[in-house]
Amino acid sequence: MKKLALHWKIIIGMVLGIIWALLSSTMGWSSFTINWIDPFGTIFINLLKLIAVPLVLFSIISGVANIGDPNSLGRMGGKTLGIYLITTIMAISLGLLLVNTIKPGELIDDQSRIDNRISYEIWADSQGYELKDGINYLKDPEYFERAQEISELTKSELQEAAVADKLETVQKRKESTPLQPLIDIVPSNFFYSLSNNGLMLQIIFFAVFFGVCLLFIPLDKAKPVLNLVDGINEVFLKMVDIVMQAAPFFVFALLAGVVSKMAGDDIGKVIEIFKGLSWYSLTVLAGLLLMIFVVYPIILKAFVKKIPYSGFFKAMSPAQTLAFSTSSSAATLPVTMECVEQNLGVNKKISSFVLPIGATVNMDGTSLYQAVAVIFLAQMHMIDLTVAQQVTVVLTATLASIGSAAVPSAGLVMLIIVLDSVGLNPAWIAIIFPVDRILDMFRTVVNVTGDATVCSIIADGEDMLDYREHDNPTQTFDLDS
Ligand code: ASP
Repeated sequence: MKKLALHWKIIIGMVLGIIWALLSSTMGWSSFTINWIDPFGTIFINLLKLIAVPLVLFSIISGVANIGDPNSLGRMGGKTLGIYLITTIMAISLGLLLVNTIKPGELIDDQSRIDNRISYEIWADSQGYELKDGINYLKDPEYFERAQEISELTKSELQEAAVADKLETVQKRKESTPLQPLIDIVPSNFFYSLSNNGLMLQIIFFAVFFGVCLLFIPLDKAKPVLNLVDGINEVFLKMVDIVMQAAPFFVFALLAGVVSKMAGDDIGKVIEIFKGLSWYSLTVLAGLLLMIFVVYPIILKAFVKKIPYSGFFKAMSPAQTLAFSTSSSAATLPVTMECVEQNLGVNKKISSFVLPIGATVNMDGTSLYQAVAVIFLAQMHMIDLTVAQQVTVVLTATLASIGSAAVPSAGLVMLIIVLDSVGLNPAWIAIIFPVDRILDMFRTVVNVTGDATVCSIIADGEDMLDYREHDNPTQTFDLDS
């Protein structure tokens, strides 16, 4: 009998997980689901992350050392970062275009927007910011009483516990020098970097440095090290194969947990949450889907003629479905690498260098969402951002997406920095927080798809892409292979 392709099994797991969560919410079993099923989802993400960190380390060392010549490495590195930057800026521009056209934040009733505006003015005043757009409800006698009421409310309302800790983390980071991001890339203790999933850039720095130095030592010394690195790499890839056998079950647990946590014992809550933020969510979704189904295929068509539209999706579907269910490009990385190498035919030399870097620095979905979120929040507070401020959004969203860890909700935390850069209240992340987990699933698919697209372009440019039509390309996670 023909085996069902892995991505179908994962999709079935997801659907069953959602059905289970809805059922358990109507039957009042949500705490059972959260206590006894959800932990398997966490175990799954832990397993994948456990593999991701050493895989990034060893695959970059082997990728860099196997390229063999520092000059071509430099050229490829420059190309990789350049193309990643271009796709990120494209994604942000698309987000800005959509949010400025649809204007989801203006579709809320006028009274709420005026109230929002007043609370923003109170906050801006407390921060000593000047209002640049000439509106000032605080000074308008007509709104005096409302302003008093709102002033009392805003003191406590936005500082929800759920976001307060996120604000604090970013605040700590901000109290450093402008070159702090550069300092953060260079580890002072490599073993500390290895012990922290958020320090992936440090691991990449070390791996590239180590790989380059391997190129400069005598071959008889370098060869055994390289063989060891390659062997260890194989072990981690085998671990991925084994974990992926159980992926459909784990994904069931993940989705059941995510939906149960949102719904509790009342499914109506999920619908309520989405109703209030429906236009915002739809704008983000429209942008993300356009990236996946239109923008990347156009880029691929322009630069890599060999890979057909359907072939690309067939090849990448295990990684895409996994990105969707885990919301983590780092956890998905091992599978992304297998899909790109075995299904798209990208040479290991390229993928082992380009993909781990992409998973860490290239987050097109995250940056698009950040652009939409900032403008949406400004719109709903009746704040017109100038062109200069929107350019600032492009720059900070690019940096914020580079700085975001490839784990669930990282983009939401970095949104604080983008809001701050244009003088908006960072605590507003609380407003979009309720729908964030679901949008995160979609933006992670974009992040992973973007990495694979760029990787194929680089491979084709280096003549290292050997794409072949597979009957069922997703059957790569085979223990016998
Ligand atoms: N979850 C995303 C990722 O891992 C990052 C984010 O946007 O929160 O790619």
